[in-house]
This record gives sequence, structure tokens and C-alpha cells, in this order.
Amino acid sequence: MHTLEKFSFGVGDRFAHQAKAQLLAFQKLEKEGITVAPVWNKSNREHTFIGSEPQSVFDAAQTAVHALGWSHGWHVDADHIRLETVERFIASSDFFTIDVADSIGKPAPAADVHAFVTRHPELIGTTQIPGASEPFTLTHADVERVASEYLLAVQDAGRIYRHVALAKGEENIIAEVSMDETDAPQTPSELLIILAALADEKVRAQTIAPKFTGRFNKGVDYVGDLVQFEREFNDDLAVIARAIALYGLPANLKLSVHSGSDKFSLYPIIRRALARTGAGVHIKTAGTTWLEEIIGLAEAGGEGLVLAKEIYAYALAHVDDLCAPYASVIDIDRTQLPSPETVNAWNGPQFASAVRHIPGHPGFNAHIRQLLHVSFKLAAKAGTRYLDLLKANEEIVAKQVTENIFERHMRPLFIG
Ligand SMILES: [Zn+2]
Repeated sequence: MHTLEKFSFGVGDRFAHQAKAQLLAFQKLEKEGITVAPVWNKSNREHTFIGSEPQSVFDAAQTAVHALGWSHGWHVDADHIRLETVERFIASSDFFTIDVADSIGKPAPAADVHAFVTRHPELIGTTQIPGASEPFTLTHADVERVASEYLLAVQDAGRIYRHVALAKGEENIIAEVSMDETDAPQTPSELLIILAALADEKVRAQTIAPKFTGRFNKGVDYVGDLVQFEREFNDDLAVIARAIALYGLPANLKLSVHSGSDKFSLYPIIRRALARTGAGVHIKTAGTTWLEEIIGLAEAGGEGLVLAKEIYAYALAHVDDLCAPYASVIDIDRTQLPSPETVNAWNGPQFASAVRHIPGHPGFNAHIRQLLHVSFKLAAKAGTRYLDLLKANEEIVAKQVTENIFERHMRPLFIG
């Protein structure tokens, strides 16, 4: 089996210029004694917006790995793929995030539900799962309801998994099943039922990405009940250990947190849970490296700052269009978005401070940050003008990228 490491961390590199700066953060962590495998992720949507091909992600990653002499594992994630979109990812990816969110909630055929419930009498009743906060009680009707809601999604995962396994060889792929892009979170007991169904479907998932309680907006901190998240996360870890033992799922199966980046208030909770249980984790971050590029260009001043301001002004004028595809994962208060005139009067460090996510910094503006996060296609539109500026200011941009990943994400997650 192509085995995913115990700790892995997903990074997005939308314009394929920062793989080295990103990998440097993993090397800094390695020097602290903690080895985490980098996973470069880019979704079909991002490729479409930018006009890039999945092979470019692999190439940039490989170049960085060679340049820095990274000797541990690394992966390229076909992020949120479905049967319709997976094809162009197959050659260049080894990690496949199978997105089945669209099939959740569509009622499965009654015969399939009945067969599932009959096959799994162990799910019914009250069980104390070691490590869980309280005993789980599931009635026949509960299992039936959850099976009805999720069996189609699981069958979907099976179809996509078999398609990729057939194309690449089952032993050459890492499969993740993601259910995060849906409305309702999955409870730990629902997760147990879903894992039983995935095992029945022979999906050898190494990571599972449930939707957790609370809001995971892109590029900003978690909004929700931290106590509830902690209980849910711990219970999910217990459920996964239980499902591995009961259903023969891969022994390294672990939670994948599609964090949307910058979930600073969750990192200490996750760190404690991992330390207590010895579990592994995959943390996927969004393409916020692009924001570090903008921050670096602003800091650089000159033409870099000019372009950053242009992108902001254009984004503000097209806020509806830019935000529409991301409506469920951003919360922008438009009254908090300054006018282009205001922003044009800023110097580089002021612009950078508005975007750089340092909670409590007087210059930080989460609304500007979220708007720019979803505006990466404007940089793509700027084409070589943007890319040339990245190259000309490589050092200052790379510094932002490395520091952001290492100091604001890895340190609180893995070191404390
Ligand atoms: Zn996701």
C-alpha cells in the first residue's frame, strides 16, 4: 500500500511559484524533531479559474523537493475530485480527495439500506467506545436513517475509488473521502456508520474528512463552540480507532481537517488530542499562500504594491461575482471594506498588515483578507505581469510564505 504518513499537511500553491518556500516550513519543523509530509493540493475549480493543469503542481513540488533535498514523503492531492473531474488528475496525483458531498442526503434504495442494517447488528444498541466522551446509543431506526442519508455517497466514493485504483493500481494511491462541503455536520456516531459502509464498499480510505460543527471560513479563524469542537474531534478519533479494529479499514486511517486555513483557535485543541491519543492527522489548508504573495508584493512596494492595490480595487468593484462561488465559506461585511481611495493611500506595510492574519493587530482586516482570498483569478488575469513580480520579489514573498506556514500554523499545531 502507498501509505500516507502519520502527520501530513496540505498546502495550496495556486500559481506554482512557492513550493520551495512552503517546503522550507516543513524543513524547519523537521529541525524541531517533527516530520510532517507535505501534500500539495489544488482543486479542479482552482485549476479552471487559473487555467493551469494538474501536472504543474507535481512539477513544482518535485522541483522543490529536489532543490531542498527533502528526503521524506510528499504527495500531490487531486483535491475534491469527482468522477467527472478526476481524469486529468490521474497521471500527476497520488493522493485523491474523493468528494461525495453532492450525494449526501439523497435517499438510498430501501433494499440497500435494509441490507446494510441487517449486516451491521453491532451498530445497534449502547456501546462505550474507548476514548469517547459518552456511550453511543443507536436504535435500529437511527442506523436506518443514517444509512439512507449516506449510502449513496458511500457508493459514489466506491465508484470513484475503483476508477482511480484501476487506472493507477490500488497499491499506488492514497484515498481520502471528503464530506465537508455539505450543510450539516456529521456526528461521531454517524461517522462510525459511514466508516462501516465504506469498509463494506471496500474503499481503502486513509483519511476521512467529515464536516465538523462550526464555520470554517476561508483564511480566517474558526467561528463556533470550541468546547463542542473539542468533544466532537476527540469522539471522532475514538470512532476511527474503533472502525479500524471492527471493519479492517487501513490501520493508518486518520481524520482530515479541511481547515480552510488559519483555524488558530482549533490548533491547540487538535495538538492536545493528538498528544493524548497518539493519533495522526491531515490538516488541509486553503490556497492562502496566494495571500502571502500579495502581502510580499505589498511589502516590496513599487510595482508590487501598485498591482496589489489594483487587484483590491477591481475585487471591490466585482465583489458579487468573486464571492458567489464561495458564499458558504466566507463572511464578508461589506461595510468593513475600505474604498479604493483609502487603500490607495496606504504604504506597503499598511496594506500588508491589513491582509496578514495576525489576530489583534490593529491593521488587520478580516474582510479585506477574505475578499482577496477569493480574488486569485484577478492575479491569474494579470498573467505575466503578476508572475514576473513574483520572480522579481522572490525573496520577500518567500519569507512571508514560509513564516506564515511555520509560525502561524505548524508551530501551534505541532510544537505548541
Ligand atoms: Zn474540503
